[in-house]
Amino acid sequence: MSAFDELLAFQRQTEALSSVAERLGWDQETVMPRGATEQRAEEMAAMEAVLHERRTDPRLGEWLDQAVPEDDEDARIIELIARDFRRASRIPARLAMELARQTSLAQGVWAEARAKDAPEDFLPVLNDILMLKREEAAALADGGDLYDALLDDYEPGATQAQIARLFDAMRPRLVALREDVLGADYQPEPLTGHFPQETQLRLARTCATAFGYDWTRGRMDIAVHPFSSGRWQDSRITTRVVETDPFNCLYSTIHEVGHSSYELGIDPDYAFTPLGRGVSMGAHESQSRIYENQLGRGRAFTGWLYQRMSDAFGGLSLPDADAFYATVNRVTPGFIRTEADEVQYNLHIMLRFDLERDLIAGRLDVEDLVEAWNARFLRDFGVAVDRPANGVLQDVHWAVGLFGYFPTYALGNVYAGCLHAALRAAVPDLDEALARGEADPAVEWLRENMQRHGGLYPPRELIERATGAEVSEQPLLDYLEEKFSAIYRL
Ligand code: ZN
Repeated sequence: MSAFDELLAFQRQTEALSSVAERLGWDQETVMPRGATEQRAEEMAAMEAVLHERRTDPRLGEWLDQAVPEDDEDARIIELIARDFRRASRIPARLAMELARQTSLAQGVWAEARAKDAPEDFLPVLNDILMLKREEAAALADGGDLYDALLDDYEPGATQAQIARLFDAMRPRLVALREDVLGADYQPEPLTGHFPQETQLRLARTCATAFGYDWTRGRMDIAVHPFSSGRWQDSRITTRVVETDPFNCLYSTIHEVGHSSYELGIDPDYAFTPLGRGVSMGAHESQSRIYENQLGRGRAFTGWLYQRMSDAFGGLSLPDADAFYATVNRVTPGFIRTEADEVQYNLHIMLRFDLERDLIAGRLDVEDLVEAWNARFLRDFGVAVDRPANGVLQDVHWAVGLFGYFPTYALGNVYAGCLHAALRAAVPDLDEALARGEADPAVEWLRENMQRHGGLYPPRELIERATGAEVSEQPLLDYLEEKFSAIYRL
């Protein structure tokens, strides 16, 4: 066997084991008996230990040195395995274990502190995690920028300087649009009523089908926080139900269908190789966002959904499809990122991006974080945070060590804006299909131009190949201004 074949065979098993580990996580969040928490923690830790050993196996270094690629795909496989090997080898085993232990502990501490609105219970633990993450960043950065080293895990090739420039260009137009919208004379009505769980779930399945979700390789279950999990022949989604707010269930379902369909849309030849997964968190979020927002919250699709929901629930509190479209896209002041509308969402990300850069750089101490968060929120959103659960304690990310992750949400929105502009140009009569509840033309275009490539191209290059244009914030901002000016009659 050639070194490349050895490398590929070894990697294949690692990929299979890592897929099993992910399935354990899915099981834990959906159907695992509540009493099995400790057993599952030990099972997952054992899997992680095996995986860590494989990812740092010295034979990888030898094969990587000797492997000769035959084509671009081989070369990219070698590049991706080498990248993971380098990163895994730079982190001392003691640090990896300490991080795993602290973050799994911190998750519980965070949840309790949030429930009790007691940041003082969580901040000391967060400080421990921050110190470990800085140590990890230093090991990975090898003299380079600490934040960039962490960001690279989620969005390979991106830098904080690049993202800061992007955000600086976005902020003034987003702030101006939000002010116009919130100050407009016309304000859409909220949807009111009671929406039974079973009916919501049935509609959610209908929506997933409308977006081409492959039920022969997927399934849908209920979880506290919706997520998608798995790839190749098995990628599952979860959703949640709030009986006063059906949009929560329907749009988180469409969002997760976007993530899941990306994985299912990858060239099957790439299965069990590093090419067989979404290439970055930003690329992933571009799929979930374009499914959910540009397509799912568009006028054409919501016209179809209005009819479906009226039939299913025996009438709605809104008079017609236009009012329904406005309600689906309603912009309201609020503290919570995950509930934010398209206009304000990226502003929530910018706040977190700046604060976490300061934490990692040592410019901000954890003990001053609550004050910094509240001051920044007041400045950016014009409202004072009323309680820590609505402020610094709302997201789990930092508790589980995800520093450098937040900006990928906004990058995903920017990529989705670029893809949407290209998609509209390529499929001019898309709305006719969406109005019939058929997203197929959009889904096929995305699969062909983006999803099937998996990890073959770096994220930015992938988007630029798909759209034929440089990545820019322009298409997203143009789309938002046009859409919300029309809805709010500005
Ligand atoms: Zn997502």
